[in-house]
Amino acid sequence: MNRRYKWLLIVWSAFALYHPSAQAAEHRVLACVGGKVYPSPTAAPIQDAALLVEDGKISAVAAGTGFKLPAPAKVLDCKGKAIVAGFWNSHVHFETGWHGAKDAPADKLEAHMQEMLTRWGFTTVWDLGSEPGNTLALRKRVEADEVPGPHILMAGDIFPENGHPVYLPPEMELPEAANAAEATLMAQGYLSMGLDGIKLFTGAYMGNKPVVNMGTEIVKAAVDVAHAQGKPVFTHPQNRVGVDNALAGGVDILAHTIPSEGSYTAEELARMKQQRTALIPTLTLWTTVVSDPAVQDQLVQAGVNELKAYFSEGGTILFGTDVGFTTKYDTTQEFEFMGRAMGWKDVLASLTTNPAEYFRAPSKGRMEKGTDADFVVLDGDPAADVRNFAKVAYTIRGGKVIYSAK
Ligand SMILES: [Zn+2]
Repeated sequence: MNRRYKWLLIVWSAFALYHPSAQAAEHRVLACVGGKVYPSPTAAPIQDAALLVEDGKISAVAAGTGFKLPAPAKVLDCKGKAIVAGFWNSHVHFETGWHGAKDAPADKLEAHMQEMLTRWGFTTVWDLGSEPGNTLALRKRVEADEVPGPHILMAGDIFPENGHPVYLPPEMELPEAANAAEATLMAQGYLSMGLDGIKLFTGAYMGNKPVVNMGTEIVKAAVDVAHAQGKPVFTHPQNRVGVDNALAGGVDILAHTIPSEGSYTAEELARMKQQRTALIPTLTLWTTVVSDPAVQDQLVQAGVNELKAYFSEGGTILFGTDVGFTTKYDTTQEFEFMGRAMGWKDVLASLTTNPAEYFRAPSKGRMEKGTDADFVVLDGDPAADVRNFAKVAYTIRGGKVIYSAK
């Protein structure tokens, strides 16, 4: 008997022995057979792997394909495919096209969820601002298995006084904090609604008028509320002052690069590193904010340079694209841009282990016995081409297939 076969037989026998009800349950077991598994960005890949999932958790992952599973198991043929942990998109919005989520038909929401997120491999997302009541209703339907979708984390927005960004509809009501006391109340309000973090606009883009920045004392007030409850604070910085005020106020995550400034200063990079600030590059976004292709290229390259500068200092990078604000859902370009600043394993870390560690989700981000069965089956090996992270064949969350290319 071949060694790999023996191993699987032992695993399977043990499983059947200790789980007598397994054969009765439908699709309690999911098996992905024959793929190349990358358990984490740093672990050696497992060729010709068998990946077994039981009740939403990974129960085994190892080399070997010659085994039989009982009928209730769902089997995905993963020959020739690469398998990586489920992706995090740490900057999305359930905004454009998501209104009325409480009562919208589930199939419509599922189609939109696929188009925007699940077909790109996302199993966990951070909504950095939308109508909270609407997104809470959507999240509830996702968690009730009505709408196949990712795990949704939500941050509540706070704007500076008179800082209604020009790209948001003027009739949209935005919470503006004129002082620290107001920011405290707003942050408390969001967290008591069940939100998972706070997003500050430390710089609001006003078109032809100057950027409106949020004062450091207001930033600090919101950060204090969030940190007292162990919640993270994101910022939309917009410009250098927006970055500096965010850093001075103790913000955790910069939700964009600042390409209009060209680069971070050495002091900013040192402070970001020292405070363990995380950076979300959103490089593709810079192709959508101006129409002149030459200016787009300049902005993207400045963003790439900022990403590279912070990454090479050892800074924490989190993948994020701002989809739901932008409708450029395809992630191919983002991977290509990020690949100019870092290696494919570093890009994988920004999609998996970095957010899992940063947001303290130890059961996510890697594939080993006992972790959540959140993973992505790719139609190409990202080691060969970083853009293959966008070639998603299946997205699996908690052992359930939430997207299938065919
Ligand atoms: Zn955004």
